[in-house]
Amino acid sequence: MKAQEALETLAQQIRGCTRCDLYKGRTNAVPGEGPVHAEIMFIGEGPGAREDKLGRPFVGASGRFLDELLEQAGLTREEVWITNVVKCRPPGNRDPQVDEIETCTTNYLENQIKIVNPSIIVTLGRHSMNWFISDAKITQVHGQMHKVGRRFVIPMFHPAAALHQSRFKPMLLEDFAKLPALLEEARAALGKSKSKKTNRKK
Ligand code: SF4
Repeated sequence: MKAQEALETLAQQIRGCTRCDLYKGRTNAVPGEGPVHAEIMFIGEGPGAREDKLGRPFVGASGRFLDELLEQAGLTREEVWITNVVKCRPPGNRDPQVDEIETCTTNYLENQIKIVNPSIIVTLGRHSMNWFISDAKITQVHGQMHKVGRRFVIPMFHPAAALHQSRFKPMLLEDFAKLPALLEEARAALGKSKSKKTNRKK
């Protein structure tokens, strides 16, 4: 099966998934989106109200801020893959629970990562970070590149946290500003060259 078809098959499975209780409160599951072989994948925590309504990731206030941060790093949404550790909205925007993250990631996120095969994964928020680096504290490791398997993981604060608590905003801006240099570093370490820009596909 081709990569695009495999991603679409996963997206269909996610939209009909009842593997954890989060399906009960969703309007739409949010599989994620981006070009098939994006160099960078952003992984947040879970869909919010607007994401749940539209079935797309990061389309509310956090999404607008993420667009600004991407622009600052010389990137656009069309170049990156964006998803979450859980694909259905936790009720009242509560934190996703360990068992929900475990069920959703092992069935979907792991496969999405395998297919897209990004050089860098940017985790947004501590739940996403702790799925890759279990004992890390985000205040200590944000903006640092960690080798995890065949790729690099850079933990960052969630854009929503930076919007709600102004002390996180300068740190998030600074981490995004470092992203182009870190991407170069990752390419060199992985022996990859700069990938061509591709059209966004869900
Ligand atoms: S959060 Fe993930 S595992 Fe749970 S119902 Fe939604 S798609 Fe399925």
